[in-house]
Formats: sequence, C-alpha cells, structure tokens
Amino acid sequence: MLACTYTRPGVFELKEKNKPQILDSKDAIVRVTMSSICTSDIHIKHGSVPKAVSGITVGHEMVGIVEDVGSDVKNVKVGDRVSVNVETFCGECFFCKNGYVNNCEDKNGGWALGCRIDGAQAEYVRVPFANNGLNKIPETVTDEQALFTGDILATGFWAVRISDIKEEDTVLIIGAGPTGICTLLCAMLKNPKKIICCEKDQIRRDFVKKHYPQIIVTEPDNCLEVVKKESEHKGADVVLEVAGSEETFQMAWQSARPNAIVTIVALYDKPMVLPLPDMYGKNLTFKTGGVDGCDCDEILSLIEQGKIDTTPLITHKYQLRDIEDAYKVFEEKLENVIKIAIVNE
Ligand SMILES: [Zn+2]
Ligand SMILES: [Zn+2]
Repeated sequence: MLACTYTRPGVFELKEKNKPQILDSKDAIVRVTMSSICTSDIHIKHGSVPKAVSGITVGHEMVGIVEDVGSDVKNVKVGDRVSVNVETFCGECFFCKNGYVNNCEDKNGGWALGCRIDGAQAEYVRVPFANNGLNKIPETVTDEQALFTGDILATGFWAVRISDIKEEDTVLIIGAGPTGICTLLCAMLKNPKKIICCEKDQIRRDFVKKHYPQIIVTEPDNCLEVVKKESEHKGADVVLEVAGSEETFQMAWQSARPNAIVTIVALYDKPMVLPLPDMYGKNLTFKTGGVDGCDCDEILSLIEQGKIDTTPLITHKYQLRDIEDAYKVFEEKLENVIKIAIVNE
C-alpha cells in the first residue's frame, strides 16, 4: 500500500509498504478513507518533534472503515465507519479514568499515531487500544464532516471545556488557523455574549468574517483596544491563545481582565516568559490545553445535530498518490489553503 513516510529530517516520501497487521488483541486495522495534513506533520518533517521515529508513516487525522479487529475489541466491528483519535490511551490508568487521556501512563500512550507508530496518510492504519481510539460515525455524518473529530476539533473542544465560558462572557480567541477556528466553533456552543477573534493573516480574517459574521474580528495591532471597547470590565473574561508566537502569548494575558481565565492551546517553539511583576494583582488563572481527546462521541453527536460544522475548513482535496503536491500547498500556505483532505479511492 502507499504510505507517506518520514524518511529523514526535511523529507517525506510516498513509499510502498506492507499492509499493517493486528499485533495485539486490542488492535484494529482501519481502511483509511480520508485523512488530513496537520501543522504537527510539518513539525515532524522539519525535525522539531524529537519523539518522531524515522521511517514511520505520518498523519494522525483520519476517518475510515474497520477492516479487522483483535479478539478483545468490543466497541467496534468490521465494517463500522469510524473516526480515529489522535491519542492512544489504555482507558484504565488514573489519567485515562479522569479523561486526561493525553497523559495515559501506558508506554504506548499519548500521541503515537503518525509520530511513534505508523499513521494515517496511507491506505490502512493499525490502531492500538481500538476500544478507546475509535468512535463510530453516525450514519448521517459524512467523512468530511467527521474528519477533524479526533484531533483539531477535540483540541478546540477540550480547550473550551477547561475554560469555563459563561453566557455573560466576552471571549477572546487569538489565532484563526484550523485549530483556532475549531476552538471558535466550540466556544460558540457556549453562547457567550461576545466572541472576538484576533488573527494577523488577512485571508483567515476574511474567512472568519465570511462564515461567522457574528464574530468580532480584529488584527493584532488593534486587539487590546478592541477587547477593551467590547468587554464590560476592560478585558476579556476568557482568553484562548491558539496562535503560538511570543507576541500572542503576551497579548493573551494583557487582554484578559483581572481574575480571568487564560487558556494556552498553542504549542510554542521556545520557552515563554510570564512577566510576573507586571501582572501582579491581576490574579489570572492560566490553563494549558494540550488536547485530551476524551469527548469524541459527544463531538460526533454535535456534528450529527448540526451544531458543529467544520467542512468549510476543507479548502482542498487531493488523492493520496498526489500527497506531495498537497504538502507543498499546505506548507507554503498557497491558494488560501486552510485544511486539505486526502482522499483514498
Ligand atoms: Zn494534528
Ligand atoms: Zn491510560
């Protein structure tokens, strides 16, 4: 089968590999029908994910059809259409039982697919702990609608869940990339009074304005001013930082009102400094939101009810055999790309 493979830093190659086999009684084999390219894949390509193993098939956002299951897999059966969780988790340790599946203590737990073990940009994938890692897609939900359930949508959902958004709140979301927009969609479910979205890229600002006209959109230069004007207490009640630069990190605490919640979803490429003397007395609560993908069934149900729709994010579609072209478009942000669906025929 064809598999997009991380051969060495800087290089992904489409290679012919053997179809994966069941290795453990809790494994399932999924025939991938649709996958996607994530910014984390680009991080692997450039060698900035130390855990990434060379030779693995990349890709961790996918939907497909269960092709084979091990003897201990009970939650799904052959033929089921499923979304696949970015995280591998045992479901039995302290962290899993509390929903903190990102911190699963199993040696294979956490982000394994497409990083430490073969992932999704291929024709088939082996999913360990398939009872936990696969979620059945409701019949009326298409592959495209379900595609982001296990990764960027789970990230936005978790970030919003830990941010305690209330209906009287003014919420600031910094960053309108794919994860920022998923976070925005999940924040909208909480019906806060206002949502402000700050984004430096004109194309992405236009995207938010076009699809979500009720959102107040600003560029970074005006962000503090806009937040002050639009919020009741001279700052946002909740801030979600999904952009990941030094400037946006500073903006996150500066734009928050005293006693606000600031949730950091973004991944930074170096340590960030909190200037505590400047913040003294502001009494902020900081949360970090590395995805805990424990709500995928609920997310799929919200998609089924029409309450979450991420399909506008799919701006491009490519066949797996053309994935190298897809990477070029995604990495160089050509043609106003937001997300690319890789389709297997
Ligand atoms: Zn990802
Ligand atoms: Zn666990």
